[in-house]
Amino acid sequence: MCGIIGIENNENASILASLGLVTLQHRGEESAGITISGKGKMKTFTAMGLVSEFFNEDILLNKLPGTAAIGHVRYTTSAKSSLINAQPFQMSCIHGNIAVAHNGNITNFPKLKQELLKKGAIFNHTSDTEILLHLIAMSKGSLANIVATSLCKLEGAFSLVILKDKTIVGARDEYGFRPLVLGKVDSSYIIASESAAVEVIGGTYVRDVKPGEVVVIENGQIKKSFLYKQPKKQNTCIFEQVYFSRPDSIMFGKTVEAARVKMGQFLARQMRDIKADIVMPVPDSGYFAALGFARASNIPFENGFIKNHYVGRSFIKPSQSLRDLTTKLKLRPIKELVAGKEIILIDDSIVRGTTSRELINLLKNCDVKKIHFAISCPPIVGPCYYGIDTPNKEYLIAANNSVEEIRKYLGVESLTFLSLENLVKACSYEGKKDNLFCKSCFTGKYITKFQRMGLSKKLNV
Ligand code: AMP
Repeated sequence: MCGIIGIENNENASILASLGLVTLQHRGEESAGITISGKGKMKTFTAMGLVSEFFNEDILLNKLPGTAAIGHVRYTTSAKSSLINAQPFQMSCIHGNIAVAHNGNITNFPKLKQELLKKGAIFNHTSDTEILLHLIAMSKGSLANIVATSLCKLEGAFSLVILKDKTIVGARDEYGFRPLVLGKVDSSYIIASESAAVEVIGGTYVRDVKPGEVVVIENGQIKKSFLYKQPKKQNTCIFEQVYFSRPDSIMFGKTVEAARVKMGQFLARQMRDIKADIVMPVPDSGYFAALGFARASNIPFENGFIKNHYVGRSFIKPSQSLRDLTTKLKLRPIKELVAGKEIILIDDSIVRGTTSRELINLLKNCDVKKIHFAISCPPIVGPCYYGIDTPNKEYLIAANNSVEEIRKYLGVESLTFLSLENLVKACSYEGKKDNLFCKSCFTGKYITKFQRMGLSKKLNV
């Protein structure tokens, strides 16, 4: 998964882009990058790690001056996690200097790459995004034309920001798999993965970039906006609202927080026969669903787990015993709160099942009476090929085991998944039952063609 941002017509373009990227940091922690232009030569600065670790005053003010910028935070889904694949990708071609930042997965990338290699193309990166640079370089016409012609050749998921001179372009694939919004701050336009990034830098959310749309922005004006391809059926990732997006971002007419509270309310309805002493979330991802559950069921909400926000990705775990300690370091139950209680524990999703099992064991060590585990989405039975890093089918616990088998493996009294119907209701526009979502990870059915993978792994319970 990745986060992208673009801002134009602004003397503080690189600073605002970096603040926007910090807001989108949850979408990718492996690398960060900013490209700036509009004053002198186009420049790109990329680094491995968090935005705040690298984008200091010296880099932003002295090394990245300009009035238009695009930025990217990366979480690897399709290629190696290394500096060479850190975006934005900047290139020099017949059209001048152009930079691209991409969120999604181009599913016909292997085929397009083979075709280009046969024609003698040279690839510097191993990521799918590079294909777009080649297509742009080989297209003819205005910036809008070369982008539209190139996008017509791509399949799969792509939300993009593109930079050339003082112009930024935003574009979204015809299904709208990944989010992309348009915002405004003073006389500058912003394009970002999520509305929270627009608002944090003082802007207001204007609208979503439509599936299949290209928006060309220059000098504080939308110069052109058109559909490069007639959108098919909107198919926006529903897992964005379950887990990935920030709770304060707006999606489908409401905050993600409101959708998650609704998921919890629906879960409470599904579990109305279960009585318990407290409802508690797995922090932070289960928080709003647990709140919705508690409000709907009148069972008291308690924060029974304390999360340590300082446990970094690179925490050294040289041995199994130290690895076991890190789970406790990340999340620790308050024994005095949970001991002797019948608990409804709420998390957003079960992927491999390893995190849930560890957490449940931590609770059991605190002498809880019973645990009812509730998940605010349906069982994940298929990997994501559209930009979310889910493992192959082989490792998806629900792809290979029944709910009852998972319940036994986790060692809980009951296990309830939110039904797909209720999830769609919780995420749709208010009062509508729109079917605008990609639900592939819950159905195993995919809207575009690609190579399927996946073995089977039965649990040993
Ligand atoms: P596990 O079942 O052990 O694989 O972990 C599942 C937990 O990881 C969920 O409760 C989510 O909070 C979180 N999660 C879900 N999807 C992802 C993802 N694509 N990348 C990172 N974490 C995720």
